[in-house]
Amino acid sequence: MKKELSEIQKKIIELKKKRKALILAHNYQIMEIQEIADFVGDSLQLARKSADVKGYDMIIFSGVNFMAEMAAVLSNGIPVYIPDNRALCPLAAYVSAEKIREMKKKYPGVPVVVYVNTTAEAKSEADYICTSGSAVEVVELIGADRVLFGPDAHLAEFVRAHTDVEIIDIEPRGHCYVHRQFDAAQIILLKEEYPDAIAIAHPECSKEVQEVSDMVGSTGMMVKTVAESDYKTFIIATELGLVQQLQAQHPDKRIIPAYDGAVCQQMKKQTLEKILYVLENLPEENLIKVPEEYANHLKLILDRMSKVKGQGPARAVKH
Ligand code: SF4
Repeated sequence: MKKELSEIQKKIIELKKKRKALILAHNYQIMEIQEIADFVGDSLQLARKSADVKGYDMIIFSGVNFMAEMAAVLSNGIPVYIPDNRALCPLAAYVSAEKIREMKKKYPGVPVVVYVNTTAEAKSEADYICTSGSAVEVVELIGADRVLFGPDAHLAEFVRAHTDVEIIDIEPRGHCYVHRQFDAAQIILLKEEYPDAIAIAHPECSKEVQEVSDMVGSTGMMVKTVAESDYKTFIIATELGLVQQLQAQHPDKRIIPAYDGAVCQQMKKQTLEKILYVLENLPEENLIKVPEEYANHLKLILDRMSKVKGQGPARAVKH
């Protein structure tokens, strides 16, 4: 049975039609936002979607700041608003443009690959950009003996395990505090409790968590796997918003969070009230502006990444 929408959800839907606004929401958004969004996906899917928007006058991007920056660069001039402009990803904060410049001095000529979870300013110092689903493919495509990589040290570790290229951490402490909360022992226990389940971990999880999981991949890959696989029970090690989305979309399947406290406080800064406020007032401070020099460089490195598929499992099913 379809869930009845709340009053505020109905108001947003009405106003977004009037404003010709498209709402893009990340997989980690609260369910109430996902329910009124025009498109829900991972950071790469949302970036690709914003490059392909036609017939809308504005985009509301419900996610964290670096994602909205990518949307603003790719949206062909359509203004992009973020409901709460304080939603900054703590992982992205580990690597600044200055830090990359320092590392480039230390390792002259070594290509720099940054994870999408970086600011537009930090990306302006990079040669390549990758997502969790495309990191191995991007590193191999470069064809160099070694690369500088950051900010996520766990994703770096994953790439290291799947390629012969030497991976030099730009910042070895870089990690996502949400994905670091998953524990290998907890996943082992859940697998004992649900022997028919398949465990899928995000590459931002620790090496130990990745090792005890059956698959490792991006949220986009998790969505695809749950939809297409014959398995009926899944243990999911990523932010709770995606677990809730998967359960809502697949009531016939059992989606178990590997840890139900894995909630990203930054993602959860976005609320229905803030989306409604932006639609009503179009506040200047919520409009995403990326300086031209960063925007041009970002387009260039995103274009380099467009050659890779960046989809599918980062590691196939073990059994
Ligand atoms: S889940 Fe982690 S990587 Fe994603 S926005 Fe939150 S802190 Fe950043």
